[in-house]
Amino acid sequence: MAKIYSVANQKGGVGKTTTTVNLAGALGKLGYKVLLVDLDPQGNATTGSGLEKNTLNLSVYDVLNEDASISDAIQYSETAGYSVLGSNRRLAGAEEELLQCSGKELKLRKGLEQIQDQYDVILIDCPPTLSILTINAFCASNGLIIPMTCEYFSLEGVSDLVISVKAVREQVNSDLVITGLLRVKFDPRVTLQKEVSEELINFFGKRVYGTVIPTNVRLAEAPGYGLPGVLYEPSSRGAQAYTSFAEEFAKKENLKKRKALKKKEA
Ligand code: ATP
Ligand code: MG
Repeated sequence: MAKIYSVANQKGGVGKTTTTVNLAGALGKLGYKVLLVDLDPQGNATTGSGLEKNTLNLSVYDVLNEDASISDAIQYSETAGYSVLGSNRRLAGAEEELLQCSGKELKLRKGLEQIQDQYDVILIDCPPTLSILTINAFCASNGLIIPMTCEYFSLEGVSDLVISVKAVREQVNSDLVITGLLRVKFDPRVTLQKEVSEELINFFGKRVYGTVIPTNVRLAEAPGYGLPGVLYEPSSRGAQAYTSFAEEFAKKENLKKRKALKKKEA
């Protein structure tokens, strides 16, 4: 049964999509069966996984609306090496429609429950808001991965996120935990980044991942080729950092591979 993780931070442009796509790509390379759910109307994770967002037959929007079965809406990306439940700008309309539904926070969870046993891990790329879409992701997840840049305002943003996680835990999903915080676009030579990083570690302790992701232009170029950076240029510093992160993540979360399990059972 797949474990489900949201990659979230309501701050825009902090590396959520880059983290989701590269973690998915690196875990796929390590032999895990991965599903990436793009829950952002921008559809960047869809494009970054090599799928054409504007010509998707079915998307996460149809699943949230219960207009399509989730299995029909999932596509396998040969180039990226994992499956994708894609998104595009149609999802922007979902918010208003969802708010009028009963059980509005649980639509994604209901969909994912149907296919959860077919994957080892499911990663949800959240939009830069704490909207009903993100709440759907939190209600469906076991854990939350928070990518963050080490700037002054980042700490404020994380406090808001912690408040939302608490609310979801108390009201809907008592399983939800902050799995870890990932420092991205990190440069330890910058004094402010070092200071913010230390503050993070003081507050969150072991929940701050040991791996840090440097600023690396190959990671920014990769989506233009429809590939995760870890596949576009595996030897680049950025790709190597995300590969190490995937290893750290898989170990910490004790992720299991379905094939290995089956062999053992047999
Ligand atoms: P949004 O809030 O809009 O969804 P996001 O949090 O998903 O944004 P990304 O799209 O992953 O952020 O990254 C924002 C920009 O920064 C992109 O152009 C991306 O290519 C670039 N970027 C992300 N991480 C790195 C990195 N480590 N090195 C260089 N560029 C990066
Ligand atoms: Mg994004």
